[in-house]
Amino acid sequence: MRHDEREKPGTVAASGSAGPDMKDHILDVLRHRVGKDVHSATPHDWFTATVLALRDKVIDNWMDSTHRTYEAAGKRVYYLSLEFLIGRLLRDALSNMGLTREMEKALRTYGFDLSAIEDLEPDAALGNGGLGRLAACFMESLASLDIPAYGYGIRYVNGMFRQRLDDGWQVELPETWLSHGNPWEFDRRESAYRIGFGGEVVDKGDRVEWIPAEQVEASAVDTPVVGWRGKRVNTLRLWTASALDPIRLDAFNAGDYAGALAEEVRAETLVRVLYPADSSPAGQELRLRQEYFFTSASIQDIVRRHVQTYGAIETLPDKAAIQLNDTHPAVAVAELMRLLVDVHGLDFNEAWDLTRRTVAYTNHTLLPEALESWPLPLFERLLPRHMQIIYAINSRVLREARKAGADDRAIAAISLIDEAGERRVRMANLAFVGAHSVNGVAALHTELMKSTVFSDLHGLYPTRINNKTNGVTPRRWLQQCNPGLTGVITDAIGPAFLDDAEKLADLNALAGDAALGERIAEVKRANKVALASYLRQTMGLRLDPDALFDVHIKRIHEYKRQLLNLVETVALYDQIRSHPERDWVPRVKIFGGKAASSYHNAKLIIKLASDIARRVNADPSVGGLLKVVFMPDYNVSKAERIIPAADLSEQISTAGMEASGTGNMKFAMNGALTIGTLDGANVEIKDRVGDDNIVIFGLTAEEVAEKRAGGYNPRAVIEKSRELQQAVSAIATGVFSPDDPSRYAGLMGGIYDHDWFMVAADFDAYHAAQRRVDRLWEDQAAWREKAIRNIANVGWFSSDRTIGEYARDIWGVGSA
Ligand SMILES: *Cc1c(COP(=O)(O)O)cnc(C)c1O
Repeated sequence: MRHDEREKPGTVAASGSAGPDMKDHILDVLRHRVGKDVHSATPHDWFTATVLALRDKVIDNWMDSTHRTYEAAGKRVYYLSLEFLIGRLLRDALSNMGLTREMEKALRTYGFDLSAIEDLEPDAALGNGGLGRLAACFMESLASLDIPAYGYGIRYVNGMFRQRLDDGWQVELPETWLSHGNPWEFDRRESAYRIGFGGEVVDKGDRVEWIPAEQVEASAVDTPVVGWRGKRVNTLRLWTASALDPIRLDAFNAGDYAGALAEEVRAETLVRVLYPADSSPAGQELRLRQEYFFTSASIQDIVRRHVQTYGAIETLPDKAAIQLNDTHPAVAVAELMRLLVDVHGLDFNEAWDLTRRTVAYTNHTLLPEALESWPLPLFERLLPRHMQIIYAINSRVLREARKAGADDRAIAAISLIDEAGERRVRMANLAFVGAHSVNGVAALHTELMKSTVFSDLHGLYPTRINNKTNGVTPRRWLQQCNPGLTGVITDAIGPAFLDDAEKLADLNALAGDAALGERIAEVKRANKVALASYLRQTMGLRLDPDALFDVHIKRIHEYKRQLLNLVETVALYDQIRSHPERDWVPRVKIFGGKAASSYHNAKLIIKLASDIARRVNADPSVGGLLKVVFMPDYNVSKAERIIPAADLSEQISTAGMEASGTGNMKFAMNGALTIGTLDGANVEIKDRVGDDNIVIFGLTAEEVAEKRAGGYNPRAVIEKSRELQQAVSAIATGVFSPDDPSRYAGLMGGIYDHDWFMVAADFDAYHAAQRRVDRLWEDQAAWREKAIRNIANVGWFSSDRTIGEYARDIWGVGSA
């Protein structure tokens, strides 16, 4: 990383260097708060002192932001999410506060390099993938746009698992991100709430009361979220759990130590791990308990704050906007109703009106098997009062539907209870009816919501569904991860794009400028050299930085089609070996991503990537023309390293299955060309960068649906394509797994038999598209121009634009 390229003149934030000298302040913190002097301090102590010294500056802006909100009596946004994939915070906070240079200088006087200190920060992996990262980008944009907001989630002690590869197999290890403490956070024990489970509902005549059988305490742990230029600091409030009675002394004194602590262990289990699956319900009772735990604590906190500030609950929708990030917090609808009716004594109709005006819901998936639902007996046992409320809501909604002319089929689809087979509570339907806005996350996805999963609910409430195409924060995903490129852009068009990413469009006028193309190519090469050197140090690989870096990083899932890429890699490998005389474009194929621990095929795909890598990388007959890498433990920090070094971005999901994608946006912002299907936000990226600057291939969502409806014969497709047939049969017969020749027979058999994810159907088109990429790469001047067109035209995918749309269309909030 070239630190001298950070914070060019004109980019430094105004909040800068007030207060005591940073250098002295760090030393003071090290001494008085870490309790070490320069002789005894470990590098971790220096990291802690660095964060605490910075945090002192952040706190002033934090308190100022809070006071401004109270004084303006402004509406606040509450973003409820089971996941916040925030990654590291030090570089982000320094850069947004405009203190990077000052901190660098300060640490240098003690002989430390800031980037080495930054690398000591654990990567906070409180999420699985895109949905959690979206929540983190949104928190940063909310603060940058000066919108008062709280993020609410769970402070997982272990979070997402750490991935190790043992002989190519994924091994899941606990992520111990809190093992050195967390200098960012503040314990807010005064903000604690009781969360009940089970028990019974007692009729008290004029009202009912829920008497839970069990209770745990949720208490708040706050992390400041700094906006760009330090304008506003918002709060990420994560809940931690403890028993009301941490220890039963009678049991302890009688020698039953385990029994004495059982309740505490039970409570702590709630915040232990994040279920490593975001596209299928984990099904475990613990997951439902986690969802209710953090949702109830958050809703109680919101209601308490409102009543304390405004004295009455009736104005809640004017002062609070609650956004549900997917259905994980959907029980918020029933919890808010419960508080309004049972605690605040409102009648049902009024409570229902307030709830719907306050709550909004974001949908992230169309896959029917991934729509959350809970077995009714489980739900009723754990949350008996909420079950009653859901029945009451349901009868109201179904009455409305009947009145509007819904037939039995439509009624069954709209109902909050799935009556087919084992009865289940449908969380997406609950969120839909309890919200005034239901949004999709890309234009295509939103249209599919209307025509598929929610078609009957959409018929009943035709104005409720709206689109908010996702975005990513350009601070983390351009400025901080790619200071070299940021510097070149600043030199070319000035610093205005730092405050408004859509100003990147000024680069369009310079797209044909050879000198600019060259400077951008130099930065890309430097980023590739840095990644290659990292991979040499960590994996012992030698990669040619002049090869095309072709990158496929995201959660491992069959719909994301790492398998299509791997089969194509094998086909390319075959062809290079058969025709070594052709002038092949040297490629490095980089894969990374975690597989849900119970997802057998995804884990097998990781092993296949490793098996292919081992064979290809050791084969002298492909020379340096092809290398395959599977980078273990993909996370936010790794993404920040890899994306600036990518030439080609693989966004090749089966059309209709990726709701939006946000990885696609990060790559384009860093000048990679996309090879992709017409899926999710790829469609809108294509519209903005132009058909000539993206490589699109394959079936459309509509064509996929048609094929699935009948008449698709993958076996016939495979037999017609020589390349595909050879590659699939090589994998199936153990060419890459001589130690276990039938390892991939089943995986390949799936392609022959049903090919649900259309690997065979799209193979020829994908293979041809890759050869188009080769031809484009051979004309480096033209490639550079395309890279510039990508950077210039994806400013719209800034999460500032997305949040601006939520603020205007859904929340009705402004700044203050
Ligand atoms: C952006 C991001 C994702 C989402 O990537 P997709 O390609 O959209 O699936 C997942 N994980 C991490 C660490 C990310 O930074």
